[in-house]
Amino acid sequence: SSKEKGRNRYSYFDPKLQQQIEEKVELSKELRKAIDKEELLLYYQPQIFTKNSINDIVGVEALIRWNHPEKGIISPNLFINVAEETGLIVPLGKWVLKESVKQLKIWETDATKKNWRISVNISQKQFERDNFFSLINTLIKKNNIEANKLRLEFTENLLIKNTKETLEKIQKLFNLGVTLSIDDFGTGYSSLAYLKQLPIHELKIDQSFIRDILIDSNDYSIVETILSIGRKFNLEVIAEGVETNEHHQMLVSMGCSYFQGYLFGKPSIAETF
Ligand code: C2E
Ligand code: MG
Ligand code: MG
Ligand code: MG
Repeated sequence: SSKEKGRNRYSYFDPKLQQQIEEKVELSKELRKAIDKEELLLYYQPQIFTKNSINDIVGVEALIRWNHPEKGIISPNLFINVAEETGLIVPLGKWVLKESVKQLKIWETDATKKNWRISVNISQKQFERDNFFSLINTLIKKNNIEANKLRLEFTENLLIKNTKETLEKIQKLFNLGVTLSIDDFGTGYSSLAYLKQLPIHELKIDQSFIRDILIDSNDYSIVETILSIGRKFNLEVIAEGVETNEHHQMLVSMGCSYFQGYLFGKPSIAETF
């Protein structure tokens, strides 16, 4: 039959690949509904400032989770890519920003947390939207929050484009008072040119360099170099993936002051704090 012929024509398709595509389509359909069904939630992970052996929480990173009715809590590593490919990252990212601002308002009323800031991961597609600046601007003005309590985490790959639009948008965000961080620093294309052009506030050392810092001299050298870039450009540097006291002590001795990692707390719901 013609149906069979049709099937044969595509028989070079790898069935495994075919299955992956179908799973992706299914996932994106479900994800589309997840926003309205309020299945998304934000976890927060503390960010620490260490000075004279005293550790203070200065902020948190917002990390999205999908509380799937059957599958339970799903990690962003399993759906952010699909969200980016399908454009769902735009409403999803907007939800994350709104939710983060809501949380800032709640913490504003708590004496021990009112100075905390929230770092929010921003995907390239989301940033490139024409209305990205006005979305941020409106959120801040409408909710009357201090702009410097919102920190946006970009990846190097977003900044590397370095177009006029990118520069202007980042300049406007900076003028608004929002602070900018470069996530996973050192793992992207690693052009340093943007450091001299863009009003960046913070570098985040990727956890892949931290993990073996005590035993791998290459990782040690990379971290040392990033800290030195930070000092020379007057940037805050935060180490991600700090899991042990040994990690922490080593980094402190190298001149690092900001930390995030399981040692100080895993990502969890706001009520845990
Ligand atoms: P990221 O922004 O680099 O976030 C850090 C990741 O490291 C988080 O994974 C966090 O749970 C994990 N982590 C923190 N401390 C430790 C540690 O000590 N040891 C280890 N092994 N891991 C640690 P998570 O929450 O699974 O998020 C994965 C990635 O998903 C994030 O990487 C970020 O790129 C993306 N993501 C998360 N939330 C959002 C979001 O709201 N929007 C966008 N666009 N991306 C998001
Ligand atoms: Mg991040
Ligand atoms: Mg990171
Ligand atoms: Mg990462």
